[in-house]
Amino acid sequence: MLSEFEIIQACFNQPGLAAVPGDVVRLGIGDDCTLLSVPSGKELAMSLDTLVAGVHFPEGADPMLVGYRALVVSLSDLAAMGAEPAGFTLGLTLPAADQDWLEGFSAGLKEAALAFRCPLLGGDTTRGPLTITIQVHGLNDAGKAILRSGARPGDAVYVTGSLGNAAFAIRELLGTEHMHDSARARYEQAFYRPMPKLALGHAAAGVVSAGIDISDGLLADLGHVCRLSGTGAQLALAAIPVGVPLQEYLPQQEALALALTGGDDYELLLTVSAVHEQALVALGEMLGLPPVRIGVITDGDAVECLDASGKPVTFAASGYRHF
Ligand code: ADP
Ligand code: MG
Repeated sequence: MLSEFEIIQACFNQPGLAAVPGDVVRLGIGDDCTLLSVPSGKELAMSLDTLVAGVHFPEGADPMLVGYRALVVSLSDLAAMGAEPAGFTLGLTLPAADQDWLEGFSAGLKEAALAFRCPLLGGDTTRGPLTITIQVHGLNDAGKAILRSGARPGDAVYVTGSLGNAAFAIRELLGTEHMHDSARARYEQAFYRPMPKLALGHAAAGVVSAGIDISDGLLADLGHVCRLSGTGAQLALAAIPVGVPLQEYLPQQEALALALTGGDDYELLLTVSAVHEQALVALGEMLGLPPVRIGVITDGDAVECLDASGKPVTFAASGYRHF
């Protein structure tokens, strides 16, 4: 059985994953604290997410996928603020020092850490029910972060990618026992390997008026933007980019409902004033993530969905709620 110190050394303080000292990271893993230096003109963005086995990912899931996903979903919060990653800290609670699990998990973390230049800065390791807490630290130009509170009536609402894929994927992964390998790989990609839109978020800071990443579901997350901005919004249902597998396998209304309420896609929702709209579209196209215009911010106080004839339609559930 590995000791806590051996786990940290072998799995976490490893090349490629652990931070090497530089301009921002003054001191990484090993001492009582990590030391970060925030360059002048920058501010530190921090976000913490906790993933509980059996709640946020299935018990028994491939540890490599769990590790990869744990980091990228936190990076998505940095993307939504327009921040560039500096590094992350890890709080890991494990039922046992299972070496195979730890190797897979740290390999998944390392892949994401390298891909998105976000090294491991430190953490804590304890025994208990499997729980992963990640705090990401990023840098913004001071005063330039994208906030949820900046939307104004008349702004256009844009979304990247397509919606409902992760919610559909996890339903299939949990509900279908015998799955073809290629189908499994596709669904695992959708749920476990979402793409944090870091480059677009960073480029869009200063262009967009507000932004959020879609973790709870489009209606719920747009609702957060509206509440904090003191606005409403109108969505054109015909413009919602419904994920292709949903269109193929679900009745049209069910596909649309899942695209509106299913979480875990980690696409970006951005609002933008008319003067900057073309700049946002051009940025998205340049970065290979053309955003889709799905609606407009209003001076109301609710998110309304309109069908092709302009008639309001309501959807029951809106977003995942823990309590
Ligand atoms: P302390 O008892 O002072 O909390 P620890 O033994 O918990 O110290 O941690 C020793 C060092 O190892 C610290 O630098 C801490 O940041 C790092 N560390 C512990 N657990 C992890 C982990 N899961 N991932 C990364 N670094 C870790
Ligand atoms: Mg500790």
